[in-house]
Amino acid sequence: MHNLPRFSFAHLPTPIEAMPRLSARLPGKITLWVKRDDQTGLAFGGNKTRKLEFLVAEAVAQGAKRLVSAGAAQSNHCRQTAAAAARYGLACTLVLTGAPEERPSANLLLDQLFGAEIIWVADRAERDRVLRESVQHLEDAGERPYLVPYGGSSPTGAAGYFFAMQEFLAQENPATWIVFASSSGGTQAGLALGAKHFGFAGQVLGISIDEPADRLRAHVAELANQTAAQLGISTRLTPQEILVEDRFAAPGYGVFTELEREAITLFARNEGLLLDPVYTGRAAGGLLALIREGRFPTDTHVLFWHTGGTPGLFADRYAPHLLETV
Ligand SMILES: *Cc1c(COP(=O)(O)O)cnc(C)c1O
Repeated sequence: MHNLPRFSFAHLPTPIEAMPRLSARLPGKITLWVKRDDQTGLAFGGNKTRKLEFLVAEAVAQGAKRLVSAGAAQSNHCRQTAAAAARYGLACTLVLTGAPEERPSANLLLDQLFGAEIIWVADRAERDRVLRESVQHLEDAGERPYLVPYGGSSPTGAAGYFFAMQEFLAQENPATWIVFASSSGGTQAGLALGAKHFGFAGQVLGISIDEPADRLRAHVAELANQTAAQLGISTRLTPQEILVEDRFAAPGYGVFTELEREAITLFARNEGLLLDPVYTGRAAGGLLALIREGRFPTDTHVLFWHTGGTPGLFADRYAPHLLETV
C-alpha cells in the first residue's frame, strides 16, 4: 500500500455509542449504534475532516498557497475546507450557489469567520464554469491554487474513508449494517473499498441525498477503483456491489420535509443527539423508514455513521422549521 501524504488533525478514532432509547422505540428488535463523525474535531466536525487530512497534505506537498472549492451556500464541506485552510496558513476561495446575505448564518457565517473569499453564482452550471475560471485566473496571477473537488470527493479525499473503515473494524462493534448519507460519493467509495479490502462481513448502505441510485452506484464504484489505484491496492468494486437507497432523495437537495423533521426530533429527544437538516436528517429518516418496514432481520445491529452537518440547524432557512410540522 502506498503512503499518501496525510496531515493529522481529526480527533480519531471517533467514538461509537449505543442508542438504546431510540432502539426501544422501533420495531424488529434492532440494536442501533452511532459512529460520531460529527465529532471529528475540526470546526464543529463532520465527514469532510477525514478527507481534508489527505487533501490539504496533498495541496501543501504540491506547494499550493490557496484552496479553492465550491458548494451550496450552507455547504459543510466548504466550512470545513475554510477551517483547514486557516489552520495551515492557506488562503481560501469558495464558489457558492446563492446570493450574498445581509446577515449570514450557520456555515456561511463560519466561512467568513475563517476568512474565506466568497464568489457567488446563480446555479450549478455557472458554479462549475466560475470554478474553472477562478483556478485559471489564480494560476495566471502566479498563485498556486489547489482545487478541492466538490464534496472533497476525489480519490485523495476518499482515502480518508478507506482508513475510517479500518478504524471501525478495530473498534470491534457488532454492527452488520452501516447506514449513512451519501451524496458526492467520497464517503461511500472509501467505506465500500475499505469494507472489501479489510474484510468487513456486513453491508454498507448509502442513503442517497440527491442522486438516482444507478448514477450514484456507478460513480461510487469508479471513484472507489481510482482510490484503490492511488493507494496501490488490487481490490476493485463493481456498481452492483455498491448499495444505495434513493427513495428519500425525491424532494431534492436541501428541501426540508417531515422525514427530516421527525428524525431530528427523535434523535434529539431520545438520545440527546443532533442531526442536520440536509444530510443526516434525511439519512436517519430513511433509516427509520427502513426499520419500520422490516428491511433488517430481527436482532440486527445497525450502525448509523453520523457524517456531521449540525451547524446547519442554525441556518436561517432551517431553524424556524425544526419545531413545526411541515
Ligand atoms: C458532504 C456530506 C455528506 C455526503 O458525503 P459524500 O462523501 O459527499 O457523499 C453527508 N453528510 C454530511 C453532513 C455532509 O456534509
